[in-house]
Amino acid sequence: MIADLRSDTVTRPSEAMWQAMRAAPLGDDVLGDEPTVQKLEERIAHLLGKEAALFTPSGTMANQLAIKSQCESGDEIVAHHDSHIIHYETGAPAALSGCMINPLEGEGGIFTADDVAAAHRPANIHAPRPRLLVVENTHNRGGGTVWTLQAFKCVATKARDIGLLIHVDGARLWNACVAGGYEPGAFAEHADSISVCFSKGLGCPAGSALCGTRKMIERARRFRKMFGGGMRQSGLLAGAALFALDHNIKRLAEDHRHAKQLAEGVGRVSGLRPHAAPDSIPSNMVFVNVDPSLGSAAQFTAALEKRGVRTLPLDPARLRAVTHLDVTSAHITHAIAQFGEVARELAGSSRRG
Ligand SMILES: *Cc1c(COP(=O)(O)O)cnc(C)c1O
Repeated sequence: MIADLRSDTVTRPSEAMWQAMRAAPLGDDVLGDEPTVQKLEERIAHLLGKEAALFTPSGTMANQLAIKSQCESGDEIVAHHDSHIIHYETGAPAALSGCMINPLEGEGGIFTADDVAAAHRPANIHAPRPRLLVVENTHNRGGGTVWTLQAFKCVATKARDIGLLIHVDGARLWNACVAGGYEPGAFAEHADSISVCFSKGLGCPAGSALCGTRKMIERARRFRKMFGGGMRQSGLLAGAALFALDHNIKRLAEDHRHAKQLAEGVGRVSGLRPHAAPDSIPSNMVFVNVDPSLGSAAQFTAALEKRGVRTLPLDPARLRAVTHLDVTSAHITHAIAQFGEVARELAGSSRRG
């Protein structure tokens, strides 16, 4: 048995999703007549309470289009120092939009209105122009942390007061909504733009969307072509996304239960410590601290891999396990057992060595 817990991006389309993809009417989205993409864009805009939406090949492109269409070269973006746009988007804010980032502190990727205020640079001939606040929900490197509506509203209100636009990187907004007990539109209400992924928790092979005002999305549509993201019969992918919106959101609660079970089991293994107590695991991610007596996280990950459990080393002493649509409770049981076996094996070899 192989439990692939590297990321929630590894899911394969279910048979029913394939059927929805095969049944989707197709056109040419660059020529402007892709009926399934148009249907998805209308649906997602409505769901998030925005005027318009744009389907994109990836979440990175959706975030970068939000930056490109709302910022000018030399502008400053305000974002948590552990955010996806800093760590995993290949320097794109600098490369594609000429923007710099002012990084904020905050436990688990969450910060406050005071943090936003303290980072603010008043208008000044010397200073970059602060332009866009980025809020990530759930927060990936923060451990899948979930913003409460209230915390986000406070931050957004302060940001607006000081003249910032607000972008939500909602690659895992669906997880946040299920875990936080709020509607996608209720969160998006406080943002100018928001990106969401269909290829993570929702189990699609690819695809994300960016939502905002009609005017902003028209700009983003032009830049999407410029970035090489114009797709043709992309209704195939949009068909998968429409299916996922109908069938795969509510069930995320199961992924969150599996993450709690995993944390509980792994937490019983000597030398391993999950990033939160089982009941406090925020969504579908478990970060496991590996005691140095067991070797590095990379060594631990490699040993797990040999036993059919795939995880990713996050840094020298931490690895990441993510639950998703293709992870069953049998996979969780298998994974917990293997975490235990590997810990015993590595503890033994370090005593011998
Ligand atoms: C995965 C992810 C993205 C988008 O990643 P792609 O691989 O480009 O689709 C954006 N933001 C966050 C927080 C993510 O976890």
